[in-house]
Amino acid sequence: MRAEVREWLAAHWDADLPLRVWRERLVDAGWACPSWPRASLGRGLPPWADDIVSRAIADAGAVGTPFGVGTGLAAPTLLAHGSDALKEAFLRPTLTGEITWCQLFSEPGNGSDLAGLTTRAERDGEEWVVNGQKVWSTSAHHADFALLLTRTDWDAPKHRGITYFVLPMHQDGIEVRPLRQMNGHASFNEIFLTDARVPDQYLVGAVDEGWRVALTTLAHERQFRTVAPPRADDRQGRTIREAAAEAEEYFKTYRWYPQRAGRADLVLDVARERAMGGDAIVRQEIAALFALQRAHQWTMQRAHAARARGRPPGPEGSLGKLAASVVARAAARVHTRLAGAEGLLNGPASLRDGIVAEVLVSVPAQSIAGGTDEIQRNILGERVLGLPKEPSLDRDVPFRTIPRN
Ligand SMILES: Cc1cc2nc3c(=O)[nH]c(=O)nc-3n(C[C@H](O)[C@H](O)[C@H](O)COP(=O)(O)OP(=O)(O)OC[C@H]3O[C@@H](n4cnc5c(N)ncnc54)[C@H](O)[C@@H]3O)c2cc1C
Repeated sequence: MRAEVREWLAAHWDADLPLRVWRERLVDAGWACPSWPRASLGRGLPPWADDIVSRAIADAGAVGTPFGVGTGLAAPTLLAHGSDALKEAFLRPTLTGEITWCQLFSEPGNGSDLAGLTTRAERDGEEWVVNGQKVWSTSAHHADFALLLTRTDWDAPKHRGITYFVLPMHQDGIEVRPLRQMNGHASFNEIFLTDARVPDQYLVGAVDEGWRVALTTLAHERQFRTVAPPRADDRQGRTIREAAAEAEEYFKTYRWYPQRAGRADLVLDVARERAMGGDAIVRQEIAALFALQRAHQWTMQRAHAARARGRPPGPEGSLGKLAASVVARAAARVHTRLAGAEGLLNGPASLRDGIVAEVLVSVPAQSIAGGTDEIQRNILGERVLGLPKEPSLDRDVPFRTIPRN
């Protein structure tokens, strides 16, 4: 298979094509997502094929599919639960980068308790009318479509009256307001939905059965990796230039994500520069940080290997998400010890041009986004360790009767 993809790339990769045309070629040949079924743009190969093919694409200096919520969350969700018409309409333009996506799950009153959402969808002929508010919606300010969760049955228990839609974002009923964070960036938004419209055929799965679909998206979200943008190098050609511009635009939203992860990579150099490498406590904390980080990387590699063998996303998703928070906080602690009060200073003359300060105000987000640390602990406790379920008084009663806010 490796030989086959290399041979295909040798015959078809052309760095001067418009990016979209190149990606159409990749999709048509089934090499964009080789593990997908043949009927859905893939080659029906085992899951490990995806890794081998993306490595072959990188080795050839060629360009693959775009980054983001589209390929990371929307495509696998539609592949698992979408109707044929939805797959037909959305998979190809998602893989070519023609359309972009955001995720409208969280609401002002519902984040961890996602199934308590109150954005309402009501059928109106061939359409659905949506009213409510979403929040923390990353990249919604430039997304074309959203993965939307709504309440459609208020008399069913809370997990059973939810419906999942693909929502077209460019319409009058949707107002997107960016939110500024304490680190100065504005990567997410609050969304006001006032009589927004969704065609009936954009329903994902069955009416009132959206929770099952949402679980698929969440399982992929815990594995979601924001990789570093491709570096500008001396490779030339229109396809590469366009892919670099696309990545640059995309990563604007995520510029602070490396800082959110703690920037453990800076710690040794900063310790040496500040002549603190001989301090016993500093040495101890740095060693502990690297031990945690290495254990986390190995767990992630094990998870990756398990998925490549065809296992669906498992508990490593929660374990990895939790470990990433622990590593980020340990790194922030070491940075604080090294920087002292100087770590509070921002701007060009500050430590590492303000990067250390940005680490300190970005790390808290690591423990919240994609499900908080406490929620990951609940999942691990209940589903992995088999501990008793968290007590709940609102699971089996009509949603309408549950006290809210
Ligand atoms: C950087 C970032 C990007 C995000 N992007 C998106 C996005 O694109 N789309 C989207 O829909 N959402 C997004 N979110 C929202 C995110 O999913 C929620 O913030 C998260 O699920 C927590 O929900 P909440 O903020 O309502 O906190 P709450 O649920 O109100 O939690 C408050 C506190 O209570 C704790 N808690 C809650 N329930 C329990 C429990 N059962 N047991 C123990 N402790 C509990 C929590 O751990 C937390 O400490 C993003 C968040 C961040 C920080």
